[in-house]
Amino acid sequence: MITQEKYRTRVKELLASNSVKMVIGYKQGSTADRRRPLFVRSFEEADELVLDSNCIGNLAGYLVTEGLLSDEKRVGIFLRPEGIRSINILAAESQLNPEQIIIFGFDTSGREVKALQGEQAEDFSGLIDSLKEKPPEKSSDALLYRIDQMNTEERFAFWKDEFSRCIKCYACRQACPMCYCRRCIVDSNQPQWINTSSHTLGNFEWNIVRAFHLAGRCVGCGNCDRACPVNIPLRFINARMAQEVFESFDHYAGTSQTQEPVLASFNKDDSETFIL
Ligand code: SF4
Ligand code: SF4
Repeated sequence: MITQEKYRTRVKELLASNSVKMVIGYKQGSTADRRRPLFVRSFEEADELVLDSNCIGNLAGYLVTEGLLSDEKRVGIFLRPEGIRSINILAAESQLNPEQIIIFGFDTSGREVKALQGEQAEDFSGLIDSLKEKPPEKSSDALLYRIDQMNTEERFAFWKDEFSRCIKCYACRQACPMCYCRRCIVDSNQPQWINTSSHTLGNFEWNIVRAFHLAGRCVGCGNCDRACPVNIPLRFINARMAQEVFESFDHYAGTSQTQEPVLASFNKDDSETFIL
């Protein structure tokens, strides 16, 4: 068990010594159990920091999409294990310099918050390795189990029904730390690769293309399905892709800052069942 006072003190020390220009953490949200991002630049803001089991959002994406590292100054950030994996992937994809990041690691089990030791992503390699021992969630959720038991037709009907509610708001993309492209394929209209209408074909195209872009990169943080205003269980698509990638290529996303992207590299021992 940790006290958030300890973290607040550490944040103030880093700000006072000019070791970081900012720390990204959590503060009280609009309801008792909601937390929202907090960008701490002063002692007063540090006093607003909250750290408890409701701090579930993965904050890693702000480092890239908000350009917070562009001046080469250091930034602190509160991260759960999946957030640390995000940092590793973003570093491996040359989207950030991990040396600019100071990590306040934490984990939650039940209502307890546990401090993770280390302040650099590489300090957590042992933790990430241990996560790999229990790979992408397999039927641990009742709905995921139900989807797994469906035959192809039932599964297609299930997702067709779910996608029929998609309104193409792209909140899932905005909330995902791995969706950092400045211009997304869906925003391009010359040529227009993806149908932008919210009908069956357009919704399938969007969600399937996004799933493939996330294959071998999703860390299972759940930002996407928490952001979806119509509650499509998006995380299960990516969890399933992660499981396939793990079983086919022994690839668990975010284990290191030098990990090769699974769909942009190959091994001569890789399965070639799609060719045979
Ligand atoms: S696809 Fe969803 S669960 Fe996966 S990294 Fe992006 S936001 Fe997190
Ligand atoms: S957040 Fe939900 S409704 Fe919005 S584009 Fe994504 S899947 Fe569709």
